[in-house]
Amino acid sequence: TIGMLAIDKAGNISGACTTSGLAFKMNGRVGDSPIIGAGLFVDNEIGGACATGLGELVMRTCGSFLVVELMRQGRTPQQACEEAALRIVKKQDYKDIQVGFIAVNKQGETGAYSIQPGFNYTLTQNGQTQVTDARSYLK
Ligand code: ASP
Repeated sequence: TIGMLAIDKAGNISGACTTSGLAFKMNGRVGDSPIIGAGLFVDNEIGGACATGLGELVMRTCGSFLVVELMRQGRTPQQACEEAALRIVKKQDYKDIQVGFIAVNKQGETGAYSIQPGFNYTLTQNGQTQVTDARSYLK
């Protein structure tokens, strides 16, 4: 998945995501990416979130919606991404699966978290771009 979240100077948030193509694609399968609330969710009052990884697990937890709802309850984007990923870890044999989330809130704070290490995201702010290794459940 390529997930993108953007916030403008007025605080308006938007998001988009694509899916990876052939990975996980059985004939007729619909992944999480095209399902609002699973692969992507934006509420302009609160923030936005995007997911990557094994879409079935993201769909089962309404992952991106969950991240935004956790931010609504006061979690930072980082805390919300972690809590959503941990909810998957709690119910699933996670040894060989990857799910990652990115999030931004209305204040422009960001977060990212994945189950497996090696999940990179790019953050561009004030004309500066940096690539960051997200924190992960497994080290
Ligand atoms: N989330 C996608 C899916 O399950 C896979 C990916 O591109 O990360 O369809």
